[in-house]
Amino acid sequence: MTKLAIEAVGLRKSYGHKLVLDGIDLRIPEGSIFSLLGPNGAGKTTTVQLLSTLLRADGGAIRVAGHDPESEPDRVRAAIGVTGQFSAVDDLLTAEENLLLMADLWHLPRAEGRRRAAELLERFDLQDAARKPAATCSGGMRRRLDIAMTLISRPRIIFLDEPTTGLDPRSRRGTWQLIRELVADGVTIFLTTQYLEEADQLADRIAVLDGGRIVAEGTAAELKSRIPGGHVRLQFGDIAELESAAAVLGVLARDDEALTLQVPGDGSTHALRALLDRLDQESIEVEGLSVHTPDLDDVFLALTGQPDGVREVLR
Ligand code: ADP
Repeated sequence: MTKLAIEAVGLRKSYGHKLVLDGIDLRIPEGSIFSLLGPNGAGKTTTVQLLSTLLRADGGAIRVAGHDPESEPDRVRAAIGVTGQFSAVDDLLTAEENLLLMADLWHLPRAEGRRRAAELLERFDLQDAARKPAATCSGGMRRRLDIAMTLISRPRIIFLDEPTTGLDPRSRRGTWQLIRELVADGVTIFLTTQYLEEADQLADRIAVLDGGRIVAEGTAAELKSRIPGGHVRLQFGDIAELESAAAVLGVLARDDEALTLQVPGDGSTHALRALLDRLDQESIEVEGLSVHTPDLDDVFLALTGQPDGVREVLR
């Protein structure tokens, strides 16, 4: 069985009368990237704070790196790193000084701190920034420095709260690459992001949080296949074939110029085979076929802010 880096069962949290988490379950295997999505105010940051010992849950059980954040907070803290939306980088210090400060906070021996700082400056391509005040670094460099500072303590589990918010596309891709390299080393990543493409690119599994509950969970592909909007586009050689197919399938969306028909469906092999068999029975020839699945934006819109009835249908 895979070892779980993070496990939560029935997690609950309210602020005063405001119920934020109404019993959520999480199972995150070691060495994987998990992404928690949800609209603003859904409780993503609250979840991160509960898992990282910064907040106490009202109910439920949590295990992080095998330890309970409530009874063994020091053990949990020794295993995790957290980088928030607000950078921990001190602008007046150089990148190297920021890293050494972090090493001091973790009570690393001097020589070990220097060694790890040098290693991280090289690995994160920060040598140019090593001796300049952080204030003069680009946004992408500061974000890399921020993540590097989290890594000084060699955490096995890293919480990344919106790691690329405000970065340009190139720096965002650079950060993604870094995250992938960390996971290749066996680190577990808990990612919150407002960029659905980011979750799509990085996450092994995604959970969507809304109304205090996890309303959907799965791989990006699983989530996409669950919502309407997917279709199969059939390409025909001439208008006569297209007419015959449209008559057989009763399809509404057609493009006579491109000689294509759109058939709603999830594009599963079962559905495709049934579709092609049906046309074959009528001796209608299909020249080409492409499957279009909804993107994560469609998933997000379909799943969040919906009444429970709609969610049930999509689940
Ligand atoms: P997200 O990270 O998904 O945007 P948060 O976890 O920050 O959501 O917040 C969830 C809800 O809890 C929001 O409605 C927010 O206003 C509320 N909230 C967060 N922190 C506090 C707090 N310290 N006191 C009262 N309400 C809070």
